[in-house]
Amino acid sequence: MKVVVIGAGLIGLLTALRLKQQGVDVTVLEKGKVARESSWAGAGILCPIHPWLYPDSFTELVNASLDLYPDLQAELENETGHDIQRIKSGLLIPCFEDDTIKHQSAAQAWSDQFDWGIQRLTSKQALDIEPNLSTNIEEALYWQHVYQVRNPELLKAVMLYLQKLGVEVIEHSEVAQLLEHETGSVCGVQTSQGKTYEADAVLLATGSWSENLAAQSGFDLPVKPVKGQIILLKTKPGTLKHIVKHDDAYFVPRKDGRVLVGATMENVGFARGNTVKALSELLEATQRLIPGLKHAQVEQQWMGFRPGSPDGLPFLGEVPSKQGLWVATGHYRNGVALAPITAKVMADWICGSQPNINMDAFAPSRTPKESESVGYPQA
Ligand SMILES: Cc1cc2nc3c(=O)[nH]c(=O)nc-3n(C[C@H](O)[C@H](O)[C@H](O)COP(=O)(O)OP(=O)(O)OC[C@H]3O[C@@H](n4cnc5c(N)ncnc54)[C@H](O)[C@@H]3O)c2cc1C
Repeated sequence: MKVVVIGAGLIGLLTALRLKQQGVDVTVLEKGKVARESSWAGAGILCPIHPWLYPDSFTELVNASLDLYPDLQAELENETGHDIQRIKSGLLIPCFEDDTIKHQSAAQAWSDQFDWGIQRLTSKQALDIEPNLSTNIEEALYWQHVYQVRNPELLKAVMLYLQKLGVEVIEHSEVAQLLEHETGSVCGVQTSQGKTYEADAVLLATGSWSENLAAQSGFDLPVKPVKGQIILLKTKPGTLKHIVKHDDAYFVPRKDGRVLVGATMENVGFARGNTVKALSELLEATQRLIPGLKHAQVEQQWMGFRPGSPDGLPFLGEVPSKQGLWVATGHYRNGVALAPITAKVMADWICGSQPNINMDAFAPSRTPKESESVGYPQA
């Protein structure tokens, strides 16, 4: 069987890896450089932002994905010798009196339902474990078992493993159109340089750029870019110990002491670059939430385009009207957390095994309901 994967982000690369392991002849085509878009830019928190705002089917998919991470880590590190920096940081949500959204009761109910082990900490207990937090907090929600991964390291390990397995990943090769038989089934792709690749199946893993390619082939895939800007602070290891999340910003302490502060949610199309406004908003949030970081130096800034969907959920499966065309896109804020299960389900499915998780909520043919809480931000 021959499969072409369009898009060398984490979703396309990891699915290509799983396909290859099932004996598929797989080629990945990437319009730019490998693994340099959303998957590279993301924060790598292995827990959705406010998962209680999503339907239960989403948490079920997340849980199935996170269960695969320990084995994925071991496999990648054993096969490549590369440390993906997946570490258990725990996650704290500080709660202030003037928070516009009070997450406590929904978070508690979600955590109890899915056995995520929430702890409600008093202000003193929270400051005992994270002394640089604001002393103005009323309480904090704490999940001890939340992990993070460092995206560029994860991607590097996946790439090294793909090379080892002999998977061809071709850069600067933009797919301009899908090739179809007269019956309408998809049988390959053509690049903007006019090169064709025949295939038994094509996987569209094109992140934020999915909508146009789908439209050219006559089906709707409402995926839009949601820009996120991030800053990196330089601190000493141990200055911040836990991932800290709030509606205004989140903070991810890396192994080397650096702290990633993110991220804006911007509905600005494909406008690249960092802005002074975003920098000052993220620094302001840092001062308010974690004053102990206020003197840390800003070392770096970057941005990425999250592949947003109207209901916050990915599109996963075969396109009903186009036999042979599969999609795995629209992972929005959760593509790193969802990558292991996406790759497994998609590879199995393309190779003929039905998923043992109910995938209806993620069907590419659904008409997604716009969600105010997890859909697109205001323009
Ligand atoms: C600031 C920020 C913070 C984030 N934080 C987190 C987090 O903490 N946890 C989490 O789980 N997720 C997070 N995410 C989301 C996560 O990064 C994404 O959901 C995930 O990376 C999407 O992966 P992808 O492979 O679908 O997309 P991408 O990584 O964008 O890859 C898509 C690839 O397809 C290529 N492509 C597009 N069109 C074509 C074409 N026609 N031909 C060939 N190639 C094409 C693109 O060039 C690109 O390389 C964050 C994202 C951002 C931006």
